[in-house]
Amino acid sequence: MYCPGYTCVLCHQAHMETRDHLFFQCQFARSCWRYIYPGFTPGDNVHVNIDAIKQKLKVPFHMEITTLVTWSIWRTRNDFIFNGITPSLYRCRRTFKEELNLVFHGAKRKKYEGLQAWIENFR
Ligand SMILES: [Zn+2]
Repeated sequence: MYCPGYTCVLCHQAHMETRDHLFFQCQFARSCWRYIYPGFTPGDNVHVNIDAIKQKLKVPFHMEITTLVTWSIWRTRNDFIFNGITPSLYRCRRTFKEELNLVFHGAKRKKYEGLQAWIENFR
């Protein structure tokens, strides 16, 4: 498959859009993570980052949050590439909140005890 470019579209730097760059190293991604984890500093690889986020959040639904943040970054990237929508932290946060609320409403309440309170912190 041919792609016209492999440069990250979220930071407009000359960084190749790798998994680790797009979801953790990119300045845009860092800003997204700092929204839920103010001291976030990316580690060397995805496993280190996911573990650091787990340790910081200390909630049983940390993987759902991690997945939804990366999903929100991915949607922000795709909205720019395919729809011409300028990436913004506001839009990325809004996507995250919307998706998190969908998870909460579809979730078994016992597993996600504390999620509603966690969500309330971001309103
Ligand atoms: Zn970037």
